[in-house]
Amino acid sequence: MKRRDFLTTTALGATALAVNGCHRAEEKSEDGSVAIKKTKKVTLKLATSWPAHFPIMGTGVDNFAKRCFELSGGSLEIKVYAKNILVPALQVFDATSAAQIDAFHSGVYYWKGKNSAFSIFGGMPLGLTSEEMITWMKFGGGYDLWREMYGKFNLYPLIGGTTGPQMGGWFKKEINSLADLKGLKMRIPGLGGEVMKKLGVNPVLLPAGEIYTSLERGTIDATEWVGPALDSMMGFAKAAPYYYTGWHEPGSILEITFNKTRWEKLSAEHQAIITAASEEMTSTMLQEFRYENAKALQVLPENVQIKTFPKEMMDAAKVALDEVLKVESNKSDDFKRVLESYQKFVKLNKPWDDISTKNFLEIRG
Ligand code: CA
Repeated sequence: MKRRDFLTTTALGATALAVNGCHRAEEKSEDGSVAIKKTKKVTLKLATSWPAHFPIMGTGVDNFAKRCFELSGGSLEIKVYAKNILVPALQVFDATSAAQIDAFHSGVYYWKGKNSAFSIFGGMPLGLTSEEMITWMKFGGGYDLWREMYGKFNLYPLIGGTTGPQMGGWFKKEINSLADLKGLKMRIPGLGGEVMKKLGVNPVLLPAGEIYTSLERGTIDATEWVGPALDSMMGFAKAAPYYYTGWHEPGSILEITFNKTRWEKLSAEHQAIITAASEEMTSTMLQEFRYENAKALQVLPENVQIKTFPKEMMDAAKVALDEVLKVESNKSDDFKRVLESYQKFVKLNKPWDDISTKNFLEIRG
């Protein structure tokens, strides 16, 4: 049997591969001899914070599991569970830390209550783009700090996708000045929410299922979500037609995080396969978000008006962000250390980005 056929025909019958706890991968060499390599079959349970097969994020993790299975010749099976099947959506961190499950796929910003520094690993308002975030993680020291700090929760994190630039959100009324923000109730999480609070907004947290109804009933005046592709599915345009360009989530990072003890017990081969599959997932998700957002933008309902926030608001947001970062740094040494590493990379990256990407985009027009 050709290896490709072998992988395809067995993809749906993973359990049939376990022979006395071992997986047999047949390799036929050119002289016709067959070598049988025994690799211990491993099955891991991974819970997500998304509904089953949720577009781009959920299908991304489904494909990650499929790739781990293919690349390992069937010896590594990752079973993906949608939110609330094994554990509630926002308890995946604790459940993995406590080894109730082996791994999770979620957004890093959800865990700032565990350690405020985690919000920086998830992305910064007015900060680095997805590609720049990944560069800081891999080459600028971000991953080392993330793994050190997650290590205290017995967790081992990997980047598990990224959204690319997000939109600024849907508003019921147009925002023409800073004064228009005063007293507005907006669903906006994370550091972006804290900046908005300093600008007079009342940031609220709502589960995904309640956002549209709250907007329609006027319980909230605005909401951010992701970008055209995923926002369109929520129907926000009907209740809040002013769609603002983004600033608060220029490159949000998702994570595939493992129980650290479980991770360390995996073979070097399986660790390498998971790492490679997570990198593939991250680049594919970024490309898919770009493509799907571009398509969805073309078919937004006709009443939608795309707007950019007034300059005075963005100037005030920069000042407010500096204040928020200063306060958080004074409260937490971890936050201060991560911020210093992040800002060191920002400083290194900016001159090159200015004369390469930024300059080119202006030339291209
Ligand atoms: Ca968002």
